[in-house]
Amino acid sequence: MLGWLRDLTRSYARGPVAVAAPRPPLPPDGAPLRAAETAPAPVRAARNALIERGRFAEALVAQTQMLAAVPREERAAEEVTLAGLHYEVGRERLERGDLAGAVSHFKDALRMQSDFVPAALLLGEAHLKAGEPRDALRVWERAAEAPQPALPVLARIEQRHREEGRPTRMISLYRNALDRHPDNLALAFGLGRVYFELAMLDEAAEQFQKMEVRAADLPLIHAYLGAILERRGQFRDAMEEYRRALRLSDSVQWPHHCATCGALHPRWVDRCPSCRRWNTSRP
Ligand SMILES: [Zn+2]
Repeated sequence: MLGWLRDLTRSYARGPVAVAAPRPPLPPDGAPLRAAETAPAPVRAARNALIERGRFAEALVAQTQMLAAVPREERAAEEVTLAGLHYEVGRERLERGDLAGAVSHFKDALRMQSDFVPAALLLGEAHLKAGEPRDALRVWERAAEAPQPALPVLARIEQRHREEGRPTRMISLYRNALDRHPDNLALAFGLGRVYFELAMLDEAAEQFQKMEVRAADLPLIHAYLGAILERRGQFRDAMEEYRRALRLSDSVQWPHHCATCGALHPRWVDRCPSCRRWNTSRP
């Protein structure tokens, strides 16, 4: 069953020439990858093949073993991959309903990379599913304080406050984030949107007008301004489409881009479809 790995290990032991095979054969589906007595190069190739096939649990075993053997200067990059793999395995566990397993993997991912937004999001979901709403909120609020504004985390906290009937905390959420990132249009938009939802029309209008100066071409701003005017009875031509557009929009839908490869994401994604890195989607 593990013959492929044994062969790789032997060939590695014989010297660098034999290591050249770029795509090692994979073990049969579901077979565990036993990485003991392995050397970094073949394990790295096997890990890449496993990740490509979406066999994250096995890739995680390989990666954990490999990390122990890589030189110090490569550790940071490999820990990023390890965090990504913990995230994927946690996601699989969460989908299977194994909440404790999911929590443990998401925590491992965050230990490796404390600003790993996708892991923080799903760690909160796992806590929520386990009947631990306070833990969920604590996880999300900590993630929201990261140096980079994390819109999906803010949107999730906002939703939680809405469900629990805490409108003032919906407002302070975005106000506090804006205090830390005053130039961030996505946060300014989030605050305006919350004001509007809470029927604080003057505050909402002021917020969107301030934004309009800096981003006159954003259709959402005009949609909101139109809707505000309509509510005040000043804009008779505002149409049903406006309101439909408003209901569909939230901060997660804001255009993002990959911080690593620059690819455009129409909305926030956990993993860049272009360079396949995790946690790189930025507003
Ligand atoms: Zn990318």
